[in-house]
Amino acid sequence: MSRAWIELDGEALAHNVAMLRARIPAGCRLMPAVKANAYGHGAVLVAKQLRQLGVDAFCVACAQEGAELRQNGIMGEILVLGYTPPEDFALLEKYGLTQTAADHSHAAALNRYGKKLHVHIAVDTGMHRLGEDFKHGDRLCEIMRMENLIVDGIFTHLCAADTANPADQAFTRRQAENFLCAAERMKREYAFVRGKRADRAGGVAGIRRETGAAGRTDVSVPRLHLLASYGIFSYPEYAQDYARPGIALYGVAETGRDAAVLEGLKPVLTLKARVACVKRLSDGETAGYGRAYAARGRRRLAVLTVGYADGLPRSLSNGVGAVLLGGKRAPIAGRICMDQTIVDVSDIPGVRAGDTAVVIGRSGEEQISAYDLADQCGTITNELLSRLGARLERRVL
Ligand SMILES: *Cc1c(COP(=O)(O)O)cnc(C)c1O
Repeated sequence: MSRAWIELDGEALAHNVAMLRARIPAGCRLMPAVKANAYGHGAVLVAKQLRQLGVDAFCVACAQEGAELRQNGIMGEILVLGYTPPEDFALLEKYGLTQTAADHSHAAALNRYGKKLHVHIAVDTGMHRLGEDFKHGDRLCEIMRMENLIVDGIFTHLCAADTANPADQAFTRRQAENFLCAAERMKREYAFVRGKRADRAGGVAGIRRETGAAGRTDVSVPRLHLLASYGIFSYPEYAQDYARPGIALYGVAETGRDAAVLEGLKPVLTLKARVACVKRLSDGETAGYGRAYAARGRRRLAVLTVGYADGLPRSLSNGVGAVLLGGKRAPIAGRICMDQTIVDVSDIPGVRAGDTAVVIGRSGEEQISAYDLADQCGTITNELLSRLGARLERRVL
């Protein structure tokens, strides 16, 4: 590994998958979110590992992400969670992707494409992001009748499953109940219309099997899902046919304060970079852009081959953040650059060019976690990790 890279702990990933499976009932399968390059971990690498662990369904954010997985040989069901515009419907067909119907009008557009497309219907139960409103029972049933849609699933997304506030908990339960109620009606409608069509198609009892673009056959009963990471841990009683963990799979909660809620997970990712060179500064000399760092006394600085273009937030500049070298903390000196970062190694003897610095992970007794970094720059681990750059090399250990 040359410049700056991510090491994935395959055993930690397997451990997290086992932990998540233990939390959900036997009939419920994982459909992990590998969107945003698997939260920065590397979508193809992670999906391949997950396939080996028996996972056969994935969630991505857009059709392009799904196409990338297919181009790299990932089989199984790939659900596009986000809106796909009509000009990309051909990608869905070509790569055998399953598309979220974002609402009635998006479903109608998917139906007008004219060829059979696999879809999951999003039901809005209060997040007011994607989904047809759960109260629009008739419109939801209309979607179930659309000729060209093979409805493999129906889902909703919980918007406050990550808080312990009683009002949010009550809201979450209402979301789940309203979803299940709407989904039952939709399933009945689907069985009814498909049954009628099958009869028309030649009196075949039950449901006609249609072959989709990926060579999969139609499923007779749409599968339901609503739980993401926090839902799996806090509301497992609502688990249905699938669960969609994202951040938990990668072994962390959104924040360090929630670590106890998602207990027992192991972080999968370590981020490392090289020392490019070491500089000696005398009292009053400065380093980096804007001369933001000024040496007090004689200092030693190391230049690292990682910068904000790799996803190291610039707000960690000026000692807000640190890295680990030889098991010791080296505070960030001055402003993080696009491709490089200067750290103060005055208290760490023997640092040399070519050494490896740990940006996220362990070194000796010390650890810098994704929680620390997320906290230091006022965000959640999901954002921090998903912004880790495409330029980083990634490998599984
Ligand atoms: C991102 C996403 C998930 C995964 O969420 P986590 O909180 O990371 O587990 C699940 N479902 C939907 C609809 C999402 O957008």
